[in-house]
Amino acid sequence: MQQLPRPAPVAIAFLGIDECTLCQKTANDTSFVIPGHGFLYVYPELLLHYINKHNYAPPQEFCDAVQNCPPLTSPEYVEAVKQNCSPGIFRSIHRNR
Ligand SMILES: [Zn+2]
Repeated sequence: MQQLPRPAPVAIAFLGIDECTLCQKTANDTSFVIPGHGFLYVYPELLLHYINKHNYAPPQEFCDAVQNCPPLTSPEYVEAVKQNCSPGIFRSIHRNR
C-alpha cells in the first residue's frame, strides 16, 4: 500500500476534519477517490497514516482497486471516475478539482 496515491487529482472535501482516533494526528478534510466497479472508493487523507503508523490493512478489494487504478493525472483516471459514479456526483467532485 506504499503506492496509495495522494493527492489524487479528483479530491472532495465533505467528510469533515480528519483526526486519528489512536494518536490524534490531524489532517485537513480532503478525501480522495479511486474508481471501483460501479462505485467509487472514498478515502481520507489520513489513510496512509493509519496504514504506516497503526498497521491498518485496507480490504483486499480496495487494494486491488488502487493497484488497477489508471495514473491519477491521466484522462483515463478521470474517465474511470466518471464511469463509476452518477453524473451529479461526477460534476460535483470534478468541479472541486
Ligand atoms: Zn495515529
